[in-house]
Amino acid sequence: MLSTMQDVPLTVTRILRHGMTIHGKSQVTTWTGEPEPQRRSFAEIGRRATQLAHALRDELGIDGDQRVATLMWNNAEHVEAYLAIPSMGAVLHTLNLRLPAEQLVWIVKHADDRVLIVNGSVLPLLAPLLPQLTSLEHVVVSGPGDRSVLDGAVPRVHDYEELIAGRATSYDWPELDERQAAAMCYTSGTTGEPKGVVYSHRSIYLHSMQVNMSESMGLTDKDTTLVVVPQFHVNAWGLPHATFMSGVNMLMPDRFLQPAPLADMIERERPSHAAAVPTIWQGLLAEVTANPRDLTSMAHVTIGGAACPPSLMEAYDKLGVRLCHAWGMTETSPLGTMANPPAGLTEEQEWPYRITQGRFPAGVEARLVGPSGEHLPWDGKSAGELEVRGSWIAGAYYGGADGQVLRPEDKFSEDGWLKTGDVGVISDDGFLTLTDRAKDVIKSGGEWISSVELENVLMGHPDVAEAAVVAVPDDRWGERPLATVVLKDGLSPDYQALKAFLAEQGIAKWQLPERWSVIASVPKTSVGKFDKKVIRKQYAEGELD
Ligand code: ADP
Repeated sequence: MLSTMQDVPLTVTRILRHGMTIHGKSQVTTWTGEPEPQRRSFAEIGRRATQLAHALRDELGIDGDQRVATLMWNNAEHVEAYLAIPSMGAVLHTLNLRLPAEQLVWIVKHADDRVLIVNGSVLPLLAPLLPQLTSLEHVVVSGPGDRSVLDGAVPRVHDYEELIAGRATSYDWPELDERQAAAMCYTSGTTGEPKGVVYSHRSIYLHSMQVNMSESMGLTDKDTTLVVVPQFHVNAWGLPHATFMSGVNMLMPDRFLQPAPLADMIERERPSHAAAVPTIWQGLLAEVTANPRDLTSMAHVTIGGAACPPSLMEAYDKLGVRLCHAWGMTETSPLGTMANPPAGLTEEQEWPYRITQGRFPAGVEARLVGPSGEHLPWDGKSAGELEVRGSWIAGAYYGGADGQVLRPEDKFSEDGWLKTGDVGVISDDGFLTLTDRAKDVIKSGGEWISSVELENVLMGHPDVAEAAVVAVPDDRWGERPLATVVLKDGLSPDYQALKAFLAEQGIAKWQLPERWSVIASVPKTSVGKFDKKVIRKQYAEGELD
């Protein structure tokens, strides 16, 4: 029997219409480096998004599901693009401006991007690549920056403000199928060639609702969220759409992502929430330790994208800022889990839950798979690869303009679940603890050593600023851990003391690293995660002592 309910498609257009009317007074504040930030209401953002859609269609000829790329920081214009492009039926393609040049060129070509909207401050990066970006017909430049670097460029160059000025502020938005492509984002390629994940209107809509649920980020129009996690990486964890749905005010850092301006904007604008990867929170902590600022407005903060060391959580607890751990991937939109502890616990009882990666929401099903493909119990002990499925989880990758999709065997199970490549355990009440990425696990004499566990403990040592542990080949054991550490200013290494500290904190003797190296900083990927590939290579080439 079919239901008797209306079948109204879940689309970004509905989010746009809703946000600009019902929440018209909510604001997007963009840091400019000037004495006053730029402030724009949702109503104004919505009108400008509508004008952008007109410009893209009428002036630049965007038709159907053609791709419009962005190479932008987090700012109001980027939010406008997030709303306008999917609503007109085209596909928003966010480009990661920290990717190596050859990957950017590959991705633009693969996605067949027609128009690129770029921030003026990013033009020096774009200009030398333009001759290779042959699919681009138009480049639209927004915000300050020297436009002359584009002189002689093949695609036509437009100024964002001039392009949208004077255009109509209403639009006859097309009726879209909710399963249609709305946006795409390529994985940052830490595990090989970039792979395109294509989000649907439906997946974005449902994901936005989940982001706002109290078991996830729990945001309402009383909140202001500081969106540090880039819009060019996994949709800024879905915040631009989720906020527009619930009227949550946004504070956008633009290119001012260094610890000092971040601390300034928090003290001045007093956001109640923020979202960023651990590296950002480490940097901010060092900044406010040296030059104290008031961060207490941030009642809660979402931290994810890489494991959050418990010591970092403790340090922020002392500053009155509660970090909430989340796990996700480009393929999962990204919200997969969040570590809000169950009800009725004391602070002490909450702690073991807070340091997990968190619980799965109803929209995400999970299972753990052992080495021979067996499904493992949720007993908090059995470790296996995490597989997930759900309405905002990728079922394939974009295969190129011919409409094919790719389902590589190492990424999707035969029955269609996403193989995350993450290894961990799940407790009987559904909390996930990741011990490693499958490729980072240290396989020593038939046993597994968790690099993340060693790193987390090391980063709790008072002398250690950062630590990254990788597997290196060993004649006797197959692999052994190499611990690379960044020491706090001016300190010299005492490896015996660090080893003793690991043992005191419960690391088994056979897991203790015997190879150590002090490094100036941990190499990072384009999205600020530890780049262990680089460390392994440095070790193999004898560059580490
Ligand atoms: P890439 O795979 O290119 O780094 P993603 O941003 O999609 O791009 O990375 C997703 C991966 O990041 C996950 O598979 C996982 O390994 C890691 N990750 C994300 N959140 C966490 C977390 N809270 N704890 C540990 N690892 C995490």
